[in-house]
Amino acid sequence: MKKEYNELRKTIENSKTILITGHIDPDGDAVGSTLAMYNYISKLNKYIDIILLKLPITFSYLHNFDKIKTNEINLKKEYDLLIVFDCGDNKRINFNIDNYIFKKIVVIDHHKTHEDFGNLTILDYKSPSTCEIVYDILKSFKYDIDLQIAECLYTGMLTDTGSFKNSNVIPTSFLVAYELIKIGVNPNRISRLALDIITLNKLELIKYTYANLEIINNNIAYLYINKDILDKYDDDENIHEGLVNYGKNIEGIEVSIFIRQLDESLYKASMRSTDKVDVAIISKKYNGGGHTAAAGFEYNGNLEDIKNNLIKDVQSQL
Ligand code: 5GP
Ligand code: MN
Repeated sequence: MKKEYNELRKTIENSKTILITGHIDPDGDAVGSTLAMYNYISKLNKYIDIILLKLPITFSYLHNFDKIKTNEINLKKEYDLLIVFDCGDNKRINFNIDNYIFKKIVVIDHHKTHEDFGNLTILDYKSPSTCEIVYDILKSFKYDIDLQIAECLYTGMLTDTGSFKNSNVIPTSFLVAYELIKIGVNPNRISRLALDIITLNKLELIKYTYANLEIINNNIAYLYINKDILDKYDDDENIHEGLVNYGKNIEGIEVSIFIRQLDESLYKASMRSTDKVDVAIISKKYNGGGHTAAAGFEYNGNLEDIKNNLIKDVQSQL
């Protein structure tokens, strides 16, 4: 067993009270990895809480989804252990940890731009998803993964690899998927629930995306959606998820940029690249981060400025 896996195992064993969380605006990998570990630790006779603020209902088919706390009201003030999943930056922890005492913090992550903040960090930036790391950890514990945990892990693997299509996929992703399907995961069911089925509001946002997508220099796709429109169609926390991909899949496009307005002059930028351009480096410049082909950041300022700067940043790598 890898040294840090062994340390994680001992840390869990020695902790009586454990809190589990992921990154802000949790996605399929954050929800899948936190719930997989919650489901595992639940059987170990510990006091355990799981918190994910702004939790998308998309993933409500996962076992113990209803146990996830979406506010801080019923949290304890002190825990022996906090485990943070899929989070590469202490500014992106799902809730404000400053109001709590944790004897130990463990971080399990796969972000290329990871900045250490735990007492123990399990980092594999070559892994396409945190869920794939969690699979590796549970296997090394010789734990008999059940269907409930398998569905959590498969969900994160599927969503972080864009249905096993993105450039981050590695051969083991398919081996792990094979093992999870053998346990009983139904790929069609999880694909439909996690990614394919859309609400009518989402359909409206996709129509808006196609109508407003701008093509710049034949190699950049750009999409902006303001807060009014997002609020109008807001039926889930992650309603905007995936819109950036529509730009990515147009012939000749190397980078898709999607900016959504969060507030008066506050914006969230998401980028996807075909791999020629490293969008993690660009995001890092703006205090964000991510992976080579998928990254983002928050920006306080003028929309035209950020748009023009990003276009220059992308062009300089092409
Ligand atoms: P998305 O575009 O889907 O929000 O994020 C793409 C990837 O970049 C994810 O892995 C996400 O965790 C990371 N990412 C997005 N925004 C930020 C940010 O503001 N800071 C950091 N460090 N990573 C981000
Ligand atoms: Mn992830």
